[in-house]
Amino acid sequence: MSITSNIELIKNSIPSHVTLIVVSKTKPNSMVLEAYEAGQRNFGENYVQELVDKQALLPNDIHWHFIGHLQSNKVKYIAPFIYLIHGVDSFSLLKEINKQAQKNNRIINCLLQVHIAQEETKFGLDFTEVESILDSEEFKELKHICIQGFMAMASNTNQENQIRKEFASLKSFSQKYPNYPILSFGMSGDYNLAIEEGSTMIRVGSSIFGERHYTK
Ligand SMILES: *Cc1c(COP(=O)(O)O)cnc(C)c1O
Repeated sequence: MSITSNIELIKNSIPSHVTLIVVSKTKPNSMVLEAYEAGQRNFGENYVQELVDKQALLPNDIHWHFIGHLQSNKVKYIAPFIYLIHGVDSFSLLKEINKQAQKNNRIINCLLQVHIAQEETKFGLDFTEVESILDSEEFKELKHICIQGFMAMASNTNQENQIRKEFASLKSFSQKYPNYPILSFGMSGDYNLAIEEGSTMIRVGSSIFGERHYTK
């Protein structure tokens, strides 16, 4: 199967209100371009350096999504061009994004990453931390970020019920915040059930490009 036909298959199988983010991490520019030529404009990366390198060489109308864990000291490298930062998992990171967005005279769209998985290791805020950020006076002062919604990753399990339960918990929580409508969850292995549980943005890599090989 080609990259083009994989993208078309996925696009034709998902509802029109769901946005497909093609996760191009570790993949060469030639493969990103093949997806671009198939009409794809939203791409996700999770390493700052790799993203900066790709952005410099690839077409300007690509919407770049940062989907990994973002360190505060690296925000400045992506602030000039990033379209949506998915993994905002602390108030201090949000404040740094605001600061760098201001320096670049722009507003940066963000999703708050919420911890829904059973594992301890996954990054993210819990529901009460999200509430305390969004309710704070300090948050209201941040004029250069725009919260668009929430991002999450489910437990690394093949127990479908567990994954559904986790996604559903975020969907239910998010209903308190109708101004933040984006729900970014679902990857190659679970995007169909993620959409059934309310996802509006899926991040798909290996189903499009094949398995990743980490050589670094
Ligand atoms: C790599 C990655 C994906 C894509 O995973 P696939 O299983 O290859 O579809 C999605 N989200 C995040 C945060 C990732 O790091």
